[in-house]
Amino acid sequence: MSTAELIAPLHAEMTAWRRDIHAHPELGFNESRTADLVARKLESFGLEVHRGVGRTGVVASLRAGSGHRSLGLRADMDALPITEANTFAHRSQHDGVMHACGHDGHTAMLLGAARYLAKTRRFSGVVHFIFQPAEEGLGGARAMIADGLFERFPCEAIFGMHNRPSLMVGRFAVRAGPMMAGGAFFDISVTGKGAHGARPEAGVDAALAAAQIAVSLQSIVARNVPPVQTAVLSVTRIHAGDAYNVIPQMATLGGTVRAFSRDVMALVEGAMRRVARGTAEAFGATAEVDFRESFAPTVNDAAEAEFAARICTELVGADNVDRQPRLIMASEDFSYMLERVPGCYINIGNGTGEGRCEVHNPSYDFNDAALPLGAAFFARLVEARLPAAA
Ligand SMILES: [Zn+2]
Ligand SMILES: [Zn+2]
Repeated sequence: MSTAELIAPLHAEMTAWRRDIHAHPELGFNESRTADLVARKLESFGLEVHRGVGRTGVVASLRAGSGHRSLGLRADMDALPITEANTFAHRSQHDGVMHACGHDGHTAMLLGAARYLAKTRRFSGVVHFIFQPAEEGLGGARAMIADGLFERFPCEAIFGMHNRPSLMVGRFAVRAGPMMAGGAFFDISVTGKGAHGARPEAGVDAALAAAQIAVSLQSIVARNVPPVQTAVLSVTRIHAGDAYNVIPQMATLGGTVRAFSRDVMALVEGAMRRVARGTAEAFGATAEVDFRESFAPTVNDAAEAEFAARICTELVGADNVDRQPRLIMASEDFSYMLERVPGCYINIGNGTGEGRCEVHNPSYDFNDAALPLGAAFFARLVEARLPAAA
């Protein structure tokens, strides 16, 4: 029987796991119930389970045959601070917390693959199942890496998967190279000299300097980033002053930068520092730039993307594998794992229709119809990459 046929009977069980996790969402680094559920399931399948990797992360290892090669498969477990608008039976039981990004589904699919592989063992080598905490901007991937993830659980390649609303169930999307943007947040503090609102000659207007900096920053993407590459620089916060008759001494600007390569991100950062300082100086003020990377760009290894696409094609046919999906300007912290180990991040269709709205929406729900296909992807990937001796 094919892997997909063998996984199909696990559909009801994976659905039950997924809905249980959906009903009990937990924010990043607080996934204690979820991590416990995951660890217990993995132990019951007979895997060697390690809890507390990167605080609330779980890693389980499965060995088969005599092979020494190893692969990593990763799912994320955290929910978001969103109040769920859905009214179905498995809606969130935790006020203000919701699985609005489908990490409940990702966890259930990887559990399904673990269960199948532990039972069938049609491979030779080691598979590390990585259940990551805190993907939603809190640094869960970096916490696991700092905790020795790849030293304790060496992987020759690593694979992750995210659902994509708007892509039909039964379809995959995968591309070589950049897949999702890297992201940074910034704050710029402008210091001038406070004065009476009617006596500008006695002060240095921090508000005016900040306004000019906000305008000048827009020249960076337009004039410094090569046109065939891309970046976003959004000033999303400007604060200055408290009174009608006081020229403010301080002003602050804040916002976000997104780009698909570290080179472009560094170029934008350098240009921002130059523009902010130079513009402030032109007004007799000073500017300090605090630029903080929050996500690396998610970049797929070309050979691993080709391999992942081959597995997808085997499962659903070439017509259902989008090899040139649009780039996603949002970010994903699996990127930090991909910077350590070659691998690939793919998208699985979540479909359209009721509950199939974009992720991070209060009406979102992971589509249970996608569960067997996602589990089959992980399972086939292992069987094809670590073949059992004939
Ligand atoms: Zn998300
Ligand atoms: Zn997500």
